[in-house]
Amino acid sequence: DVKKKELGIINNVTWVIAESGIDVIITGQKLNKPALTTINDPTREILTFEYTKLLKENGSIDINIFPAIRVRYESLDNNTTVTVDLLREIPNSIECKNDTTVIFHITLPKIGEKLVEIGGRDIYAETLIIDGKTNINLQNFLNPFDVNIGNDFPIEINFFGKNIEIDRSQTSNKGDGIFIALDSLQSLFNVSILETNYSIFIDPILEEYKNDKETTLKFSFPAATKKIIENDKTTIIFNAEPGSFSIETSKHRDIEIPPEIRLEYQNNVELIADQNSVKITTSKAKAGNLSGKTIVIDPGHGSYSGPYLDYGATGPTGVKESVIVLQIAIKLKKLLEAEGAIVILTHDTVDDSNNPTLAERVSIANSSGGDLFISIHLNASNNVEAQGTETYYWYDSSKEFARSIQSIIVNQLGTVDRGIKKDYLYVCRNVTTMPAILTEVLFVTNITEESKCKDNTFLDKIAETLKEGITNYLNEH
Ligand SMILES: [Zn+2]
Repeated sequence: DVKKKELGIINNVTWVIAESGIDVIITGQKLNKPALTTINDPTREILTFEYTKLLKENGSIDINIFPAIRVRYESLDNNTTVTVDLLREIPNSIECKNDTTVIFHITLPKIGEKLVEIGGRDIYAETLIIDGKTNINLQNFLNPFDVNIGNDFPIEINFFGKNIEIDRSQTSNKGDGIFIALDSLQSLFNVSILETNYSIFIDPILEEYKNDKETTLKFSFPAATKKIIENDKTTIIFNAEPGSFSIETSKHRDIEIPPEIRLEYQNNVELIADQNSVKITTSKAKAGNLSGKTIVIDPGHGSYSGPYLDYGATGPTGVKESVIVLQIAIKLKKLLEAEGAIVILTHDTVDDSNNPTLAERVSIANSSGGDLFISIHLNASNNVEAQGTETYYWYDSSKEFARSIQSIIVNQLGTVDRGIKKDYLYVCRNVTTMPAILTEVLFVTNITEESKCKDNTFLDKIAETLKEGITNYLNEH
C-alpha cells in the first residue's frame, strides 16, 4: 500500500527560554518529525522538514545565549530547513506535539553542571571538587547507558556484561547524589578521561581491532557513533581511543580534540553496533552475472512519520508489511551480491528513527549511480478477497522492467496477475536516474497470502524470483 504524502506547512519559527534551556518552536500544519543533521565547522544543527512549505519569507532570529547564536529558516523546492547556529555542540532533542508543533530543545547547563562528553554523547553532569579532584555524579555518568544504581554499598553494576563493584571508599555522598572521582572512573570503567576548563571527555578505549575479511572493533563500553555530512560525504565517527586505526599509540587522551575513528560511509560498508562491539563489514565485488551492476532495493515503509513508526499494511493475524518486505529485500540483496552486483538497501531495519523518508530514499537512489531501482511492497485492501500481484511504474522507460518483474512473479509464484500500472507514485516519479518500479507482491490483507508471508521458504522463493527477473532484464537491456 502506498500513502500519498500531504504537504506540510510551517507558519512560524520562534524561540523561548524554557526550563531546561532554549526551545526553538516550529508551528504549522501536517508537520512530520524533521530529520536532524549535525554539521561541523561551523557547528550547526539542521532540521529538515521534507515536503513542507514555509509560509513566511526566509529569515533568521538572533538567540545570542552561549552557545546558541541564531535560528535560521529557509525553504527550497517544498523542503524547509530550520538551522540553529552554535558555537559548539550541546545536548538537544526533538519533540513533536501532534502535527502542529515541533519543538527543538537545546539544553543549557544548570549551576554546578559541566558539559560531559561520554563516548561522543553530550550530557550535562553535576560535578564537585573534593580534595582538589573533580568528582562526577555517578548517576549522570551512567545515564547515557540506562544503568540504574541503588544506594547500598557496595554498588554492583552490570555494565554491558561486565560486573563492576564500587565500594563506599571510592565515592562521596552529597545531597541525593553519589559522586565518584574521575580518577576512579578511569580504573573502574577502562575509559580515557580528559578534563578542560569547560568540558570533561570520557572515551571508551579500543580493546580489540581485527581486520581480515571483516573489521571488528571492540570497545570497553559501547562506542557512540554519529553520522556527519560534510562536503557531500557521509562519515561515521566513532569516539574512541586510540585516535586512529593504529593501536600503537597511547591509551589515554592527551589532546583536547576528541580522538576519532572516521569511516567514510560507502555503499559497500555495513555497520552493526551491538552491545560493546561495532562490526564493520566491507564487501568486495565478485565476478558474476551481475558484475559491475548496482541495484537499489527499497523495502517499503519502516520509517517514522512524525512520532509514529509506519509499519505499512497489517494482515488479519498481525503480519506487518514493512517487516516482511525487509526480509525479502535482505534475501534479495544476498542473492544479487552472490552474482557480483553491488546492492544498496535504502534501510535495513524497521525500528530505527533514522530510517530514510521517501525523499531520502529517492536521493539515496539518485546519487547511487545505480542501474535499477525496485521498491518492494505488500498490497492491502478492505476487500479481504483481493489477492495477487501488481507492479507500478511512471516513466515509460521503466515499463519494460515493470513488465519483467510482474510476469516472472506471476509465472513462478502462481499469483493472480493484476497487471502493470502506470501511476504517479512518489518513488517511481522521483527516481529519475534509472528504471524505477514498485511491486506489490501479495495482499497481506488476504488470509491465504498473509500465511505465505509467514513461510520463510516462500520468502526465499520471492527473493529468488525477483533476482531472476532483475537478471533477465539486465541481460536483455
Ligand atoms: Zn506499501
